[in-house]
Amino acid sequence: MPTTRDYYEVLGVARDASDRDIKSAFRRLARELHPDVNPGDPTAEERFKEVAEAYEVLSDSEQRARYDRFGHAGVRGGGGGGAQGFGSFQDIFDAFFGGADVFGGAGGAAAGEDLLVATSISFVQSATGTEVEVMVDRVEECGTCDGSGAAPGSEVTTCDACQGQGQVRQVVSTALGQMVRARPCPACEGTGRHVAVPCADCRGRGRVRAQSAVAVRVPAGVATGQRIRLQGRGGAGAPGAPAGDLYVEVRVMPDDRFVRDDLDIVHEVSVPATAAMTGTTVSVPTIEGEADVVIPAGTQPGDEMRLKGLGFPVVHGRSRGDQVVVVDVRIPRITSDEGREALRPLADHLSEHGDDGDDEGFFGRLRHAFR
Ligand SMILES: [Zn+2]
Ligand SMILES: [Zn+2]
Repeated sequence: MPTTRDYYEVLGVARDASDRDIKSAFRRLARELHPDVNPGDPTAEERFKEVAEAYEVLSDSEQRARYDRFGHAGVRGGGGGGAQGFGSFQDIFDAFFGGADVFGGAGGAAAGEDLLVATSISFVQSATGTEVEVMVDRVEECGTCDGSGAAPGSEVTTCDACQGQGQVRQVVSTALGQMVRARPCPACEGTGRHVAVPCADCRGRGRVRAQSAVAVRVPAGVATGQRIRLQGRGGAGAPGAPAGDLYVEVRVMPDDRFVRDDLDIVHEVSVPATAAMTGTTVSVPTIEGEADVVIPAGTQPGDEMRLKGLGFPVVHGRSRGDQVVVVDVRIPRITSDEGREALRPLADHLSEHGDDGDDEGFFGRLRHAFR
């Protein structure tokens, strides 16, 4: 849909801007808004079309003069030309910048694509490290022809159409005059080679799309969102070009027993008040199995015991966190009269001797201060 915005405004230039200013404004905006730089962004794509349309008119002195006098009505419709002159904005862009090269694309054979897959591991696996298998849908070298594209026993020669360059040059007319434009050679699809008898399994492409299981070492210490890079395990490149990389993003599933706190693992254990008063030993889960933890007599709610070295390691590092056991003290609910009677001597004892703990609490310390 043609834009209704003012073309000068679209390019961000003044009405008396020179041809040079217009050209450089367009170059800047086109690089910024090109769909290759903003994949899947419809706003950028719309803006790009708008910019291309504005440039198409303002870069042509005759059309610019008509636009200045009559506005959009002067350059649209029956008169021909206008932004519709280009088949697509990709064309105008290619003509202007000479194809994909401007964005760092490979000149000859295309490298394989980078791929991203996700994997879920348990909390304990994230602490100890593990090996997982991920299914990857990727382009792979054809096993029948080892990627050559030639049927076994058949010959591979240099492409005559491009002399093995993989690309052909073509002169095209654009709004800026004549431009040389490089295209992948249509005869050999950019490979620079001619295959006498193509491999039947890959139809001469040397590559096939396949689902493969890839084993991945997940190092100890990883957290959700971290990615493991497997160099060269992404999509296969064109013959002679490198393969892409495979990225595996890790998700750590929550565990009811543990919470991660940086390198430490926090586990809460609940003991009855009587056990906290007299001291006890409890068994707690750790990433290396069950472990006994001594709860000393007089343990208070929120006290922490540390199990050294049972936390997360630094990924590929030496230092390790601890497991922190946080003690929650339960007050038993005693419902029977006998139960309450049994506690009475203890209650009497405590009121005679204070609360017996190291920590007498705020009021206890206050009493001491005035004694
Ligand atoms: Zn093949
Ligand atoms: Zn060729």
